[in-house]
Amino acid sequence: MANKFSRKQFLQQSAKTTLAVSLTSFAGADVLAGCTSAKVLSSVPTVTGFEQTPLPYAYPALEPVIDALTMEIHYSKHASAYAKNAKDAAAAEKVDMSKPIEDVLQSISKYSVKMRNNAGGHYNHELFWKCMQPGGSVMGSGALQQAIIKTFGSVEAFQTQFSDAGKNRFGSGWAWLYADKDKQLKIGSTPNQDNPLMDISEIKGTPLLGLDVWEHAYYLKYQNRRADYVTAWWKVVNWDFVSARFDAL
Ligand code: MN
Repeated sequence: MANKFSRKQFLQQSAKTTLAVSLTSFAGADVLAGCTSAKVLSSVPTVTGFEQTPLPYAYPALEPVIDALTMEIHYSKHASAYAKNAKDAAAAEKVDMSKPIEDVLQSISKYSVKMRNNAGGHYNHELFWKCMQPGGSVMGSGALQQAIIKTFGSVEAFQTQFSDAGKNRFGSGWAWLYADKDKQLKIGSTPNQDNPLMDISEIKGTPLLGLDVWEHAYYLKYQNRRADYVTAWWKVVNWDFVSARFDAL
């Protein structure tokens, strides 16, 4: 399958991603410096608007963990459709699309099922792409790692619990590391395209790390072996991005 990204485009995207992470980190530092008590969801940088943003790497960039064809279909067909349908729903339901999509998700019970499925799907995928990077990364020994060890006992125990959330989600859905309103780390999963931002969700908080366990995310390479996909996925997690979101809480 031909890769639609040229090397130049890839380098441009890489530069943008680096800049975005840097800006995110700076914003997080600013929030922490200026505000020591109020912890609100809105302090975390928004993930996306209603438009689908460019994939921050080329389709083959996450191989061998995620194959190029899966990435291409996932981004250009599945996620693209969620974005289009979310915009259609937003237009029909008179949503101000200049506002963060997080606002809609936090009051999703007021909107249609079409909005729930597609605004959720769009947001989740935009977050998912940013949660990964070619070659993966090291978690680092910052605040997130300290909180993970304090909450789950060890990084390994955290990864096992998170992986189980993905493996055990019956049917389609997502596994999440999220922070509740008290900035406490939690692991959970949601069905379909729901997420912890939604007021109708059983688990509530700010998503920090999300794993797509829909079959479309892994079936071409892993077929029925979801557990193998979940295990391999840790090799491409972008911990800088996840840490920056935690720091900004
Ligand atoms: Mn997906």
